[in-house]
Amino acid sequence: MHSCKGEQQLSEYKLVRKQNRHEKTMVRVKECCIGDGDLTVIAGPCAVEEEEMTFELARALKHMGVHILRGGVFKPRTSPYSFQGLGWNGLEILAAAGQNAGLPVITEVTEAGDVEKVSRYADILQVGSRNMQNFGLLKEMGRSGRPVLLKRGFSATLEEWLLAAEYIMSAGNNQVILCERGIRTFENYTRNTFDINAIPALKRLTHLPVLADPSHGTGRRELVEPVALAAVAAGADGIMVEVHPQPENALSDGFQSLRPHELAPLINRARAVRDALHTGCVAR
Ligand code: PEP
Ligand code: MN
Repeated sequence: MHSCKGEQQLSEYKLVRKQNRHEKTMVRVKECCIGDGDLTVIAGPCAVEEEEMTFELARALKHMGVHILRGGVFKPRTSPYSFQGLGWNGLEILAAAGQNAGLPVITEVTEAGDVEKVSRYADILQVGSRNMQNFGLLKEMGRSGRPVLLKRGFSATLEEWLLAAEYIMSAGNNQVILCERGIRTFENYTRNTFDINAIPALKRLTHLPVLADPSHGTGRRELVEPVALAAVAAGADGIMVEVHPQPENALSDGFQSLRPHELAPLINRARAVRDALHTGCVAR
């Protein structure tokens, strides 16, 4: 029988490989559980900017049924002159806004030396696309005791991505979530090309939960919802979406951020897609 390359070269995926662990991994974060069959929604601004705005947005997101609040405070920007994030002050704002709204929080960590301190504030640690193969950071994430959301490097193959997850797991952390966020192709109408193939492929290869980030995957607000729905139809366990109350004034990624009122219908439609597929018509 024909089998693809990824499936032939799996001997090194000791811990991430589906065939080596029969139950799906579920990542529990406070009251929410990623990978339990319900759709997980993570939303929030690209970067934490201002205290009052973050508190208000967090409450609005909670009201819409969002499970986890996102917000970057150490921003890996292409240009050193772009907004770099609020750093530790931003992290305090994010954690307080999450607590106030009753939402767990996720933020990106860019330095291995920051993992322990960020772990005191954040419920989930994010490894960004640009750091997917920062092996020192991955090993430290493995020792963090916190769930880790591992984004796909924008030029990483599925194999490289799974082996990055293997680094975290082999360092002692089995709470790993994969997040497809688009890869770089020749196409430049969109910021990245969301790799829809990755979702069902990963579902075959690994027991880890798989999320989709259609914000970075498209870079265009008007494409976020259709790509989110496609990812859910393809089997994603959840979505991560950038939301900003005034995208036109956002300090980063405003062009791909939804306005809060645009998120609620997206969540409803994404749930409807998920429910339709769970009626048993689609085997997975
Ligand atoms: C982000 O989530 O804000 C981010 C920087 O994402 P990525 O690492 O996928 O570019
Ligand atoms: Mn962003």
